[in-house]
Amino acid sequence: MKEKKSRTQLVADYDTLQRIFHRPEDEQSRNVLTKYMEQILFGLHDFLQKHVGITEEIPLKDLAEQFTSSKIARTPVKKLADVITEIIEEIAPQAVNVSSPYFIGHMTSAIPFFMVHLSTIVAALNQNQVKIETSKVVSVYERQVLAKIHRLLFNLDESFYKTHIQKPESALGSFVEDGTLANLSALWVARNRLLPSESGYSGAERDGMVRAMHDRGLKKLTILVSELGHYSIRKSAGVLGLGYDAITPIPVDGENRIDLKELKRTLEKHQRDPETAVMAVIGIAGTTETGAVDPLPTMAELCHEFGGIHFHVDAAWGGPVLLSERYRGLLKGIESADSVTIDGHKQFYLPMTNGMVFFRDPQAMDAVAYNAAYINRPGSVDLGIRSLAGSRAANCLILGSALDIMGAEGYALLIDHGIELARIFAKEIIARPMFELVTAPELNILTYRLVPNELHVSQGSTAATNKDVRLQLLNDINIKVQRMQREAGKSFVSRTTLRRSDQPDTVVLRVVLMNHRTTPEILNTILDEQEDIYLNRIAPTLSLNKIS
Ligand SMILES: *Cc1c(COP(=O)(O)O)cnc(C)c1O
Repeated sequence: MKEKKSRTQLVADYDTLQRIFHRPEDEQSRNVLTKYMEQILFGLHDFLQKHVGITEEIPLKDLAEQFTSSKIARTPVKKLADVITEIIEEIAPQAVNVSSPYFIGHMTSAIPFFMVHLSTIVAALNQNQVKIETSKVVSVYERQVLAKIHRLLFNLDESFYKTHIQKPESALGSFVEDGTLANLSALWVARNRLLPSESGYSGAERDGMVRAMHDRGLKKLTILVSELGHYSIRKSAGVLGLGYDAITPIPVDGENRIDLKELKRTLEKHQRDPETAVMAVIGIAGTTETGAVDPLPTMAELCHEFGGIHFHVDAAWGGPVLLSERYRGLLKGIESADSVTIDGHKQFYLPMTNGMVFFRDPQAMDAVAYNAAYINRPGSVDLGIRSLAGSRAANCLILGSALDIMGAEGYALLIDHGIELARIFAKEIIARPMFELVTAPELNILTYRLVPNELHVSQGSTAATNKDVRLQLLNDINIKVQRMQREAGKSFVSRTTLRRSDQPDTVVLRVVLMNHRTTPEILNTILDEQEDIYLNRIAPTLSLNKIS
């Protein structure tokens, strides 16, 4: 950021220091602080409402040139007012307006207004959930919030929750940084439960993977997940010492759900091999790329049948669909999971970032319990004993309050809107000759691609008949369409390459519908723009009929 010359020389002195920590007593300074909050709320919010565009058309490279100073200012150079104004006027327009109803490419979107207030409360209270001494009531509040989501997932009976909700020795789950760390936490528990330290055997957590595996005559642990699994699962396998090649990707069926026959065949194969153990089977409730939900009930049965394999459900995206009476059936079987991942910053519409992991068995997290003498003693109620993070924010206050403000019905309106809009959009894509629906929406995610008339399979051109040439051309065209639309800055869909074992790698445009202000009309405008980009900017550079 360009450093503006300040009118008065600012100094770091002790008097000012006092003022920035102490509650202002006089009316005037109180008003100033209130005005700043207003500026943040309305300045930023107005900005997000007014600019339906996604971002201004300045290349990242040019922006990067403005941020090359690596020196910390020796004296203060800006006042709070300057900082706020600069962020609103100079940073925000070049950031990404994720709350635009035209921003439909990612799992990040508009959040309700009140989330800003709730975030401010978390910052103002500044509790540290690692231990009771730094959070007190907020720790027991957190346990209550976790129990509410646990109940939404597993729906156990009232007496179960009465027993465990505040019992220090039980843990229904944990707040974590994000979905990635939720998956890691679940798999951490699964690994330690598979390789505990017990009579005659070393444990993975205490003695390390080498000894724990050696004692049991194991050469390999594997995790089975569909080939559409999120890459955080690979990261987890790396961190947990399995190596990411330990993941066995299972092919998907025509609907992008894990192929059950293949899953069963793989389980049988591993069962015959005494040197390999299956550490976990993962079902996905809303794949990141296509939104498909794996057949969870049958997966749970298979895990049971093959000796009680840990069944994890990655519901980072789909979890909150359970709040919708109309669509919760889509997640049938999730209640049979041993552990579940949910992201608060996705369909709970919380500000970045908030992840959660849940365990059906309230004792499961004992497998990852740690006690540090100076911070938490055995039998203590400190939440930091069973969590990957140490210090962490009281995000539970945001989720707990949001659940009260929205109610299940409020969230259901958002969920239902997204799912129903995706269905309408899919119909529109099918109706337009220039587009092809690649993966139909099960939840509120779909993928499609632009297929120009000349490349329709029914067309006689050489390009259309040669399969490899056609695919390459289509991939190139869709990469360009997506990039040009993004660069124009009015709307945004994302792009991904679907890699499925039975099909060639296919570049697709990916749409995530979670903004309640996105309408069918807006979606039509986005398709119009893509057609326009193709016809006026891409087609003239191609000569499809001359390709030999
Ligand atoms: C988003 C997502 C994740 C990872 O979550 P982060 O919060 O980005 O770390 C994991 N799994 C699925 C299915 C997801 O959609």
